[in-house]
Amino acid sequence: MHIVRCEPLQHRNTFAFKSWASAYVQVVHEQELLDALEWANEHDMNVLPLGHGSNVVLAGDIDALVIHPAQRGIDLVEDNGDTVVLKVAAGESWHSLVQWSLQHGYFGLENLALIPGTVGAAPIQNIGAYGVEIASFIRCVSMVNIGNGQVMVMDARDCNFGYRDSIFKNVLRDKVVITSIELILSRKPCLQLSYPALNNYLNTDIAVELTPQALYDAVVAIRQSRLPDPGDTPNAGSFFKNPLVAPAQVMELLKASPDMPHYSQENGQVKVPAAWLIDRCGWKGKRVGKYGVHPAHALVLVNYGGDDGNELLALARDIAASVRHTYGVDLEIEPRVYGGE
Ligand code: FAD
Ligand code: NAP
Repeated sequence: MHIVRCEPLQHRNTFAFKSWASAYVQVVHEQELLDALEWANEHDMNVLPLGHGSNVVLAGDIDALVIHPAQRGIDLVEDNGDTVVLKVAAGESWHSLVQWSLQHGYFGLENLALIPGTVGAAPIQNIGAYGVEIASFIRCVSMVNIGNGQVMVMDARDCNFGYRDSIFKNVLRDKVVITSIELILSRKPCLQLSYPALNNYLNTDIAVELTPQALYDAVVAIRQSRLPDPGDTPNAGSFFKNPLVAPAQVMELLKASPDMPHYSQENGQVKVPAAWLIDRCGWKGKRVGKYGVHPAHALVLVNYGGDDGNELLALARDIAASVRHTYGVDLEIEPRVYGGE
């Protein structure tokens, strides 16, 4: 275990914001993680797990031991004929896992292709795209308690998975480091095609055979055509969650804007795309100093050469205020914000 004092994090977050960690360590197996937690305890330091930094806003320096889980490994731990159980280490890349599963004939993850980040971070916000969430596949999550080094395995039913939400964002926030997850995948293709964007793409290309590979290819192609690559244009994907609005308020909004897209949820609430609200408030493609709203996607805030997360947060506040003023809807930031004025 090699703990570095004063580590720059600018290349470790996809917004490329300048930030320094008071200490930093990569851990490749569980004992290293336990040693790192003990070191932090001895030095009276907080601990912050950081994967690929694709869902954080670093708005200042991090006064903590930043632990980068780098454990690797994908193991087939059960074969039940029609389904298999994979145990995947936290440090694996999520997209590489999606590709690996497809190549091995284990299906289900196709809609979640090209989501950046590590496997260990995936349960935190219950990553989702095109009508599929990781919660549908998780059997259990293994973790280490930051406070006492205790190893725990949590059944998926106890993870309180919700829309971009889980127990790791509230009750267990800052309390555990996830070390691996177990996923149940299917040997039989089970294509989830409910999203219009997918349907439109697949229907317009009549040469495409509907296989898991074709679905994966479609998701990759759509994402590459719509989303800026953080390597070229630093961003953290969707900056705001899609708000869940009460049906009565949606009825009122529809009177003034009959074309407003809206999707009823099982819990009775109605999801309204934040991108539509932001676009209608005139923000799409707008630049304010070195930050802006991407011209092709109103939900993606981008860094055009700045390095201060606080400046981007100021833009985000202005956007949220104008949506609140125009539609009476509150927007919630999706990435985790560290620091900030
Ligand atoms: P980080 O950003 O490093 O961390 C995120 C949070 O999780 C932090 O609070 C961190 O402390 C915590 N954390 C990380 N690893 C661990 C661990 N092992 N144990 C405990 N806590 C941990 N998300 C979606 O849901 N759907 C999408 O379609 C999607 N598309 C995206 C597209 C782009 C271009 C980008 C940049 C982001 C997108 N995201 C999407 C958001 C992001 O990719 C996911 O949230 C991803 O799971 C974050 O992984 P990470 O390793 O980068 O996490
Ligand atoms: P899109 O297809 O343009 O759709 C816009 C929004 O409408 C999406 O956010 C989606 O909500 C919602 N939506 C569309 N069809 C729906 C349906 N049939 N039922 C319920 N909700 C529906 O979306 P996009 O922005 O290009 O993104 C495509 C997918 O990738 C989405 O699922 C999105 O969440 C995901 N994505 C996430 C991030 C991130 O950082 N979190 C970044 C890029 C893309 P949902 O977002 O709830 O699915």
